[in-house]
Amino acid sequence: MPSPIIRIDNIVKRFGPLTVLDGLSMDVMPGEKLALIGPSGSGKTTILRILMTLESISGGHIEVDGEQLYHMKKGADLVPADEHHLHRMRKKIGMVFQHFNLFPHKCVLDNITLAPMLTQGVARSDAEKRAMELLDMVGMADKAKSVPAQLSGGQKQRVAIARALALSPKIMLFDEVTSALDPELVEEVLSVMKRLAAETDMTMLLVTHEMGFAHDFADRVLFFDRGKIVEEGRPEEIFSNPRQERTQTFLRKII
Ligand code: ADP
Repeated sequence: MPSPIIRIDNIVKRFGPLTVLDGLSMDVMPGEKLALIGPSGSGKTTILRILMTLESISGGHIEVDGEQLYHMKKGADLVPADEHHLHRMRKKIGMVFQHFNLFPHKCVLDNITLAPMLTQGVARSDAEKRAMELLDMVGMADKAKSVPAQLSGGQKQRVAIARALALSPKIMLFDEVTSALDPELVEEVLSVMKRLAAETDMTMLLVTHEMGFAHDFADRVLFFDRGKIVEEGRPEEIFSNPRQERTQTFLRKII
């Protein structure tokens, strides 16, 4: 039995007086595809941001790929040990954001090659070769020289996916990647992600309001409410036969 690639043990996250996560524990196995669902404000995005070390934590332990993510005390919070540690841990995880976060003045190709060249010392020719393979995979090879302003939201998001993949992370985090898109552009992004989920052994965590997509994408669905996992299970269990009343109410409203 392999060990979990992510172990979240009793984490607490406060924003000032607001406790967003209150003793959350969960494990993720290597290669697992997880969907995090639940009402707005239940802490789903905060979990992804904590894993990406974009937030500190107020208590608890997180282990990623066998290493503690946070262990330094800073005021009331825990932060990564130092820049070196942060850099090493960030290489393990890639994240795709709701609002793409592409560099606006760089062409698509540069958006993808910049980080591997600067942070991993990859030679330009190798970075460009890999970027073109990834662009091909997301159906964007013909836009390599375009700048983000020339692309639709769906195209930008496909570039953002390729950019995160270029760093070859073991874990990918997807935060509401379709919620800023016009409805007709959602499908092209979802189909890229479904293919990715089916074809790679990367571990993937997805926060989404697209229940049909969560159903098709995930091996396991976690339903969150108020910073806690209320229910988890295989997609067919959660979506067809939720046991908890809060899950039932949420799904009735959203589907
Ligand atoms: P979800 O992704 O489930 O919608 P979030 O993780 O985005 O939930 O947010 C959980 C709660 O934390 C919300 O009440 C939100 O307002 C609050 N929150 C998130 N980020 C911050 C922040 N930087 N400062 C203060 N409150 C925050």
